[in-house]
Amino acid sequence: MKQLPSILTDGYGRKHNYLRISLVEKCNLRCTYCMPSEGVQLSPREELMSASEVYEIAKVFVSHGVDKIRLTGGEPLLRKDFEELVKQLSSLPVSLAITTNGVLLDRYIGVLKKAGVNKLNISIDTLNPDRFKGLTLRDQFHRVMKNIDWAIEEGFNVKLNVVLIKGQNDDEIIQFIERTKDASVQVRFIEFMPFKGNQWDQSKTISLETILNRVSEHYNNSALERIEDEPNDTAKNYKIRGYQGSFAVISTVTNPFCDSCNRLRLTANGRLRNCLFSDKEQRLLELFRSGASIEPIIAKAVGMKKAVRAGLDSPEEFENYQNHQNNRSMIKIGG
Ligand code: SAM
Ligand code: SF4
Repeated sequence: MKQLPSILTDGYGRKHNYLRISLVEKCNLRCTYCMPSEGVQLSPREELMSASEVYEIAKVFVSHGVDKIRLTGGEPLLRKDFEELVKQLSSLPVSLAITTNGVLLDRYIGVLKKAGVNKLNISIDTLNPDRFKGLTLRDQFHRVMKNIDWAIEEGFNVKLNVVLIKGQNDDEIIQFIERTKDASVQVRFIEFMPFKGNQWDQSKTISLETILNRVSEHYNNSALERIEDEPNDTAKNYKIRGYQGSFAVISTVTNPFCDSCNRLRLTANGRLRNCLFSDKEQRLLELFRSGASIEPIIAKAVGMKKAVRAGLDSPEEFENYQNHQNNRSMIKIGG
């Protein structure tokens, strides 16, 4: 019998087995590349997904083949019911991971361990306390660093997310790579991406080529090793020979990886998005609350996915910052 196509496979044959769920729109930091300086309009509380709604909706995705879920935000650890949420989601047959700014990690290390959540992406854009304050507008550097060290000691699989912005922190590339010398950690350099209200400009991005040039200026020629990327990996992976950890580069702007994209995103107010850069969303939570099946709307979102970066096909279209003004700010999408 002919098999029906999965609702998670798009018109380009891409299978979407990875769901990123934003749990909250609020944050305890104010990273300037993520949160617009004028702030964001928060959704009324009753419009946000409850813990049981997150679980029930996630279950539908899992029944269609999602096997990886990442919790993000805003800052996911700000959810008062985070423990309950993680407990419920960890009962699903998925690889469950979290992206956090690390500020509240000390409160939740035990919860995460108990739920068997081992994969932690922690954002840290500088190793300088004063700079941290300038970039995040909050004085939390020491707490975050302590929590990163603690998570590594506790055996979590830790990746450090570093958004590189020219003139702000790109002089720390080597310092970050040096953190991988004695620690089994992966540093992920992420290109600064354009979203509403973040003052993006192409000239502020740092490309893979620039990073590799800086590395080869600093280390001897044979030190850099290209290592295997994971399937559907958005990152190109490297290590310095002999170092315990590794580093990776995520170059969404200068070298997009849309042809292997397997991601869907659910916002904290229950809208389904098929691409970071798309301003089209499906009102999934409203449909779920009406008691109707959410499968048709999932199929619609997947079916509408464009081949490359929400249809901003050429570099010129993508690099025109005006073309990103109808999209949400990153803090309200969930990175
Ligand atoms: N609050 C958590 C955190 O900071 O890790 C989770 C949410 S945050 C939106 C998820 C990731 O998106 C972070 O690693 C952050 O650095 C990244 N991010 C935010 N704005 C970005 C931008 N304009 N370009 C590239 N990455 C960005
Ligand atoms: Fe908050 Fe994360 Fe955005 Fe920074 S990147 S403002 S920590 S949501």
